[in-house]
Amino acid sequence: QLMAYRLQLKERVIMKIIVAGTGYVGLVHAAVCAEFGHEVIAYDNDEKKIEAFSSGETDRIVHYVNEPGLADSIRKVYGKHLFFSTKLKDIIEGTDVIFLCLPTPPNMDGSTNLTYYDAALEDIAKSLKNRKDLRRVVVVNKSTVPIGTAIHLKSVLDSNKVENVGVASNPEFLAEGTAVPEARKPDRIIVGCNEDQDFIILQRVYSKFVHHVQTKYIETSPETAEAIKYVANTMLLTYISFWNGIGAKLGEKIPNIRIDDLRLGVTADKRISTWGSFVSNGAGGSCFGKDIASLIYQLRRVNVDTKMLEASFEVNENQKVYLVDRAINENGFQFNNKTIAVLGLAFKKNTNDMRDASSIKAIERLLGKGVSSIRAYDPLANDAAKLEFNPSRNVLFEKIQYVDSARAAIEGSDALFISSDCEEFRGLSRTIEDMAAPPYLILDGRRMIPDFEILVEKGYTYLAVGSMVMEGAVAGTGSS
Ligand code: NAD
Repeated sequence: QLMAYRLQLKERVIMKIIVAGTGYVGLVHAAVCAEFGHEVIAYDNDEKKIEAFSSGETDRIVHYVNEPGLADSIRKVYGKHLFFSTKLKDIIEGTDVIFLCLPTPPNMDGSTNLTYYDAALEDIAKSLKNRKDLRRVVVVNKSTVPIGTAIHLKSVLDSNKVENVGVASNPEFLAEGTAVPEARKPDRIIVGCNEDQDFIILQRVYSKFVHHVQTKYIETSPETAEAIKYVANTMLLTYISFWNGIGAKLGEKIPNIRIDDLRLGVTADKRISTWGSFVSNGAGGSCFGKDIASLIYQLRRVNVDTKMLEASFEVNENQKVYLVDRAINENGFQFNNKTIAVLGLAFKKNTNDMRDASSIKAIERLLGKGVSSIRAYDPLANDAAKLEFNPSRNVLFEKIQYVDSARAAIEGSDALFISSDCEEFRGLSRTIEDMAAPPYLILDGRRMIPDFEILVEKGYTYLAVGSMVMEGAVAGTGSS
């Protein structure tokens, strides 16, 4: 049976694909599938988004999904291999594969909220039921969904009496900021199916992607595929938390420990990853927090002890705010009535994604400490931050002013908080010297100022993740 399908693979590899949900995952996946020659229709129920993407205008595209190279990719294939729609019934005929790239946010108890997923699935099942062309269609979970969701997916399709339909789990591993190149050359493609014919359809989709030697193509059960995503993400966060919870703390508590050398020495072992070893004010983004919370929830339901994952989560959350507390406890800094410059609002560089960004908790903590204003700047995310810090949610957000450069943020401020790793923050020492007089306090959540010692010599106070506070000659505590 499998051989027969493999032979067909030679005959037909251009598939008609619907990608449901045009967010970070769906839009990138749709564009890259289209680049590889498939006929792709990206579907979303948000008409404004679909209008913006169909316009081909970079500004309108990046307003929703700001990924390097994505707008160019869309323009290249739009109208040839890539189309957009908000109407399922107009696009359903002749579809081979439907990728579900819907949001799966967390519920309060850590479980996964499948409301968006289920709503889209109901619409898709109804459309599939009414199709005339009864060719095999595979509905694929690309969203990160709890283990067992492929079974749920199949039962919804069956209860809607959809004929000749298979299901698959094909989790997404992209990292925002590098999503487009990673989608073109993924390190792995995980496909979980129960039927050979569905494996073959997915092989056709990915036959062009896997020409890259580094791509591992792994076929497994749907449940294993679902679990791979959760284990991978929680392992990454746990590794980050290990460095923040142990490595950084050694540097902060024990004299003469140089965190950068510690990192270099430890990661010289080829078994230990460099990725994740850079200590920070916590990892954010749409996935780490919710995925670890969901795995904790899923493991508790089968009576597995989750202490280890809970600790990873807690270390990461604490990391987002603890520099503010350190400034008070270790430097005696009083935030009340001060103006604080905050640089880096998105959860990392090269994106405007504010989801679970460390800046959110840091800014809330600063406001809670009574600062009079915050001068905020991010090269890409100022607009997205205005939506996140909507004063209707918290009246204190009115104290945030958005400026268009690091220099403007520092001007007139009493202290600086660096919250993300945008490249332009690396050369800040000159700007700090120009715009702020010692003993100005620098809270560095990403160790972005390599020449901090020069600033300290000139009297500035430098407090970074992974180091003890360094007070300059004219610092407030009277050191000389
Ligand atoms: P997103 O919020 O950016 O995009 C989701 C899209 O789905 C939105 O455009 C929304 O309008 C659309 N949508 C919502 N309800 C719909 C409906 N009923 N019908 C049609 N469209 C609907 O989300 P995302 O970041 O792309 O994430 C999608 C999934 O992929 C999540 O499960 C996430 O955990 C997972 N994931 C995300 C990333 C990442 O870095 N963003 C990486 C790997 C996996």
